[in-house]
Amino acid sequence: MTLRFDNTYAALPERFYSRVNPEPVASPEVIRVNDALAEQLGFDVAWLKSDEGAAFAVGNKLLEGADPIATVYGGHQFGNWAGQLGDGRAVLLGELLDQDGERFDLQLKGSGRTPYSRGGDGRAPLGPVLREYVVSEAMQALAIPTSRALMAATTGESVRRRGVEPGGVIVRVAQSHIRIGTFQYFASQGDGDAIRTLAEYVLERHYPDLEVLHRVDGVLAEASLLALLRAVAERQSELVAKWQLVGFIHGVMNTDNMLLSGETIDYGPCAFMNEYDPATVYSSIDRQGRYAYGNQPRIAQWNVSRLAQALLGATEAGDAAWDAAQAVIDEMPEMFRVAYSRGMGRKLGLATLCETQNDEDWALIEDLLELMFETNSDYTLTFVRLTELLGEDAPDARAEALAKFGGLPSEFDAWVERWRARMTEEDGTDAERLASMRAENPVFIPRNHQVEAVIEAAVSRGDFAPFHQLVEVLARPFDYAPSDEAFARPPRDEERVEATFCG
Ligand code: AMP
Ligand code: MG
Ligand code: MG
Repeated sequence: MTLRFDNTYAALPERFYSRVNPEPVASPEVIRVNDALAEQLGFDVAWLKSDEGAAFAVGNKLLEGADPIATVYGGHQFGNWAGQLGDGRAVLLGELLDQDGERFDLQLKGSGRTPYSRGGDGRAPLGPVLREYVVSEAMQALAIPTSRALMAATTGESVRRRGVEPGGVIVRVAQSHIRIGTFQYFASQGDGDAIRTLAEYVLERHYPDLEVLHRVDGVLAEASLLALLRAVAERQSELVAKWQLVGFIHGVMNTDNMLLSGETIDYGPCAFMNEYDPATVYSSIDRQGRYAYGNQPRIAQWNVSRLAQALLGATEAGDAAWDAAQAVIDEMPEMFRVAYSRGMGRKLGLATLCETQNDEDWALIEDLLELMFETNSDYTLTFVRLTELLGEDAPDARAEALAKFGGLPSEFDAWVERWRARMTEEDGTDAERLASMRAENPVFIPRNHQVEAVIEAAVSRGDFAPFHQLVEVLARPFDYAPSDEAFARPPRDEERVEATFCG
């Protein structure tokens, strides 16, 4: 096994983290290993699946080159400043360089208490571990920036949450785990030096193309802080646009759950929408609907405002810098609109949709959403149905199989005509559009009732077969096979599971 550890975060000043070892557990067992990701990172897959791999996954055995730390951060939770948080049940083992020299954090989640655990037990129940594995890898297959699941294991110990559940650990991989809340923590300490150090670190690690990175009298310049802010605003806008396009509801967009890398993290109460409704909320603790599907772009903007305050407040920035930061924040709705309408163009087979600031194109999108809302249509299946309309004159096996799910309601007829008319303004044939729309609109998403069903089978019966099957189907979300019909189907009324819980 040739793992290339290169631990740069642990080389930052000591007030950025605490050195801490995972707490050993009784009898770990491997649930699943992500073969492709393991190989990418240089792991021996057979070793990961062995008893030694299980010991590694739960933190009983430390790899050579690891330098375990828990990082400190703070955050706003549901709009309120929560003060110091930090990795309360996660340990960053170190950073690995993959085959291409790309850097990834290797983190254990659920591996025991740390100095930031407060009253918590530092553990993760099996259910949330499986949810994170399923949904984060589904997001990856949907080409959405995300933390990844390298492997999952059971601990052989119980954890107490809403009842007593088996414990688990997920080995998480991400470009980094630096959060908006990490900056907020140092700002709350009035620690401008830490803000500059961290900003420079993030620029080098995640935004190396930003040429403005420079120092004045040995200190990171204000212009660099602003460049960082803009880059993060762009990545957050693009990320939330991608969420919206697949119907993903993060559920807990607190500032400690927003990564500077622009990846999705924290799959606690997340879910995918069935029927299109912007007010959709799954999380049982989101009583006000702050993190409802339709609010996500606004919340991303709010979170980036908190980053601006942290960056500028603690570094004693001048008025001009605050004005420039406000201008970036004010641009975020437009950044989102551009990313979202481009993505919608790909979903609708219209390469030039909204390319010019075109009210009619925007209305085409809004009217489609309105129709879905009025007719209680399933968001994902609506795009599948639209796609298959392009091949209706000569249906192939896939089209015939998908016809089982029914066609579009007649209320969509007039809209479909407008859509067809808009296509005539574009190059390309229907066959080409059919192929590209099939590659853009997933048939399989991690529907909440299915995620809950595989968790239930694993937690209450020790049966992991449904979990493995779901992971495998979601690894090819665009690739319909009739044998997987059950995975494409929206829930029947009696199957609905509409509340999710933080782990
Ligand atoms: P989350 O709600 O998952 O974003 O977590 C918020 C904060 O609570 C983070 O600092 C976590 O590390 C911490 N936390 C959550 N669950 C636990 C737990 N079981 N033990 C210790 N800390 C926890
Ligand atoms: Mg979190
Ligand atoms: Mg969480």
